[in-house]
Amino acid sequence: MPFYKVISLPKPLALPSVGGARRWWQRLTPHRQDRVAMLAPLAAVMLFFAAIVAALGYLRLEEMDREQEAVQRDVEYTQQRLRLRLLERQEQIMRIAREVSGRELDADDFRLRAASMMDQYPEVQGMAWVDDKRRTRASQGMGVTANGPMQASGDVLAKGQRDNGFSLTREVNQPVYIQHPLAKEEEPLLQMYVPLSDRGRFGGVLLTEYSVDGLYRYGVPSEVSARYAVSLQDASGALLAGTSIPARKLVGRFLPWSNPANEYSMAVSPVGGGLVIRAQAYRASLGVIGSGLFWLVSALSVMTAWMLIANWRHTRRRVQAQQALMSETNFRRAMENSMLTGMRAMDLQGRITYVNAAFCQMTGWTESDLVGRTAPFPYWPDGDREHMASRLEEEMHSNTAPGGIQVRVKRRDNTLFDARLYVSPLIDAMGTQTGWVTSMTDITEPNRVREQLSASHQRFTTVLEALDASISVAPLGSDELLFANKLYRQWFGVQAGGHLQLVAEAGMPHTPPNDEASDSVDSFAGLPTTALPDSDTESAEIFITALGKWLEVRTRYLSWVDGRLAQMVIATDITTRRLAEEQAATQAERAQTSSRLITMGEMASSVAHELNQPLTAINNYCNGMVSRIKAKQISEEDLLVALEKTAKQAQRAGQIIQRIRSFVKRSEPNRTLSEVSTMVAEAVELAEIELRRFNVRLNHYVAARLPMVLVDPILIEQVLVNLLRNAAESIDMALRQTAERIVELRVLPRHIDNKPVIEFSVQDTGKGLAPEVMARLYEAFYSTKADGMGIGLSLCRSIVESHLGRMTAENIYNGTEVSGCRFSFWVPLAEIGTLTYKEPPAPQPNLG
Ligand code: ADP
Repeated sequence: MPFYKVISLPKPLALPSVGGARRWWQRLTPHRQDRVAMLAPLAAVMLFFAAIVAALGYLRLEEMDREQEAVQRDVEYTQQRLRLRLLERQEQIMRIAREVSGRELDADDFRLRAASMMDQYPEVQGMAWVDDKRRTRASQGMGVTANGPMQASGDVLAKGQRDNGFSLTREVNQPVYIQHPLAKEEEPLLQMYVPLSDRGRFGGVLLTEYSVDGLYRYGVPSEVSARYAVSLQDASGALLAGTSIPARKLVGRFLPWSNPANEYSMAVSPVGGGLVIRAQAYRASLGVIGSGLFWLVSALSVMTAWMLIANWRHTRRRVQAQQALMSETNFRRAMENSMLTGMRAMDLQGRITYVNAAFCQMTGWTESDLVGRTAPFPYWPDGDREHMASRLEEEMHSNTAPGGIQVRVKRRDNTLFDARLYVSPLIDAMGTQTGWVTSMTDITEPNRVREQLSASHQRFTTVLEALDASISVAPLGSDELLFANKLYRQWFGVQAGGHLQLVAEAGMPHTPPNDEASDSVDSFAGLPTTALPDSDTESAEIFITALGKWLEVRTRYLSWVDGRLAQMVIATDITTRRLAEEQAATQAERAQTSSRLITMGEMASSVAHELNQPLTAINNYCNGMVSRIKAKQISEEDLLVALEKTAKQAQRAGQIIQRIRSFVKRSEPNRTLSEVSTMVAEAVELAEIELRRFNVRLNHYVAARLPMVLVDPILIEQVLVNLLRNAAESIDMALRQTAERIVELRVLPRHIDNKPVIEFSVQDTGKGLAPEVMARLYEAFYSTKADGMGIGLSLCRSIVESHLGRMTAENIYNGTEVSGCRFSFWVPLAEIGTLTYKEPPAPQPNLG
């Protein structure tokens, strides 16, 4: 599966051009610029340091190479010299050897030759001629060893390893060099064995012993030993002669100025591995200089870096301080610009040195117009110059009024405004006065507001004065009068007595509603003033005998302008209203009485018919008794029975008349706790006379155990009689069949708005209420009947409402057809708390 990947290549790094660098620099945020500005020199120092170290290292390496070459060269040269010296000796000794082999030399000659050799070449320590039987034929110098003199006839081979050399020489038949380690106290020696030939056979050896020390002293050129520590060593590296060379410290090897390799060693040629020349350059002063330079550069670099960092930190602190200063300055400038008060500063000569934006805006002059100017200033009104000059003089002598001075100021467009100036001396940081600062406020608006306020106050007072209510305000618990309007002053004078009298007679406390005055003051203090009048208005109607007036008194608490809690009393003259109300009440009572008279009038024929029955019965009884007494057919007992029956009928007639009388009799409204069932029974008794006339049957149901109600029973009976009579008339006008001529009266306990009430309802089977009738039902003098007066229902409603009840009327439907209507009303129970009653069981119609 091919694998594709989009790789976004970084932009090829453009060659840094000056313009590009500048653009790059400008694109950086100031913070990054700071960082780059800090890091770049640091990086430069580091680069410089690295370059110096690299250069030093490179030079040192070069030098070391050169030194190494020099050592090598010198060592090789020395080796050459040693080699030549040894070869020359070898050559001479071989010549002797040839002469010895050719028997040209005897032992004495040999000794002579050896002695001259030893004289001539001090490194030659001794020589010996050993024949093939290992016998020492002659020797010179061999005895003088560290071990003491050696016998001339002694066996040189007996000492040390000389025997090895002898055997080796016999084997190889060539000159052999042996450098063998000696005991410590012995001087190191180099032995050379040169074979002798005796007519072609091995004829012994010439043993020559070189002092290694002598070799070193005479073989190593002095210029070489001056420059190097030169030493001759054996194969194992043990020092034989020369300067001992210390091992270099390991640490030094890693430092650029150290020279781990400035030494060289090589075997001295004819001897081979047994003798090694080794040279080491003496430590040059260059190392000190090199390391000094390195440390100097390092120290300088560290110092520079440290200084850069310190400088950067310093800069950062300065930038922070600068930012703080800038924000402070900006804050001050913003404050200055947002200030609505004009500010002007003057020096001691009265020259404007500073104006703020508000000052310029107020006067219309720009900063450049004003700064540097001396009096007269352009904002002085032409007419006020002298006044202003004297004001300025006052200002300069710091004797201005503490409340400021009010002046008129001219704007650039020549309009004037009122201003208030406050002057204060300008003190600098050193505590010396450098001038004055003047603040200027435009008081045109406050002046205007003050005028408006006083005008509105005037209007307000005028309104209050003209009010036809007396208004007075007095603080609580004091007889000081805070405010009284004209009507109050007319009625009560200028003392608080009237106020207190009104409060007292109205039965309102002259203290706040709470018990403790101090507490209530506290609780009122936090209230918004609107809450006070709303929450604490009380009113009462009282009669003031001194004035001969009925007054409606309302009081409310208010927080007075000085914060004190005060009581305001508003008293309105309601004498006229009271009289009208009294008249209306009288009239209503009269209307009720006349309504009863009217009802009776309308019922007159029924009543007459009702009275006719007992009267006829009395008449019949009387006639019967008269005829039977005449015929003397009556016993005394029968007469007594007939007379009792007659009396009963007369009593019944009297009862009817009594009932009517008590109903019609004009009486004061008289609310008593009345039994509902009694009221219903009496109303039914009155109405039944009429119901019988219309041939209408009455069913009535009164719930059991109804509580007593506080009503005027006569008035409630009047309502019931009216409703029952209207129902009977309606059924009669609807021309119902006998079976349908029924009126139902129900009395039930109910709950309306969670309050217990007694509801009375009268339902008929009449023609119902037409919509237009429904609309005008309770209108006085509205009637649909030819002989109707139209005041029955309107009176009924006012009676019910005077008992705090309500009356309603509704049609009863049988399907869509109206089958009658129901009038109901309810009256509340007197004492809700004390009178309770249960919901009765389902009503059992009591068909009366
Ligand atoms: P009046 O009976 O003298 O007409 P009311 O005030 O008692 O005066 O009645 C006003 C009108 O209300 C009546 O004329 C009648 O039209 C109507 N009305 C009252 N009661 C009933 C009722 N039960 N059924 C139908 N209409 C009624």
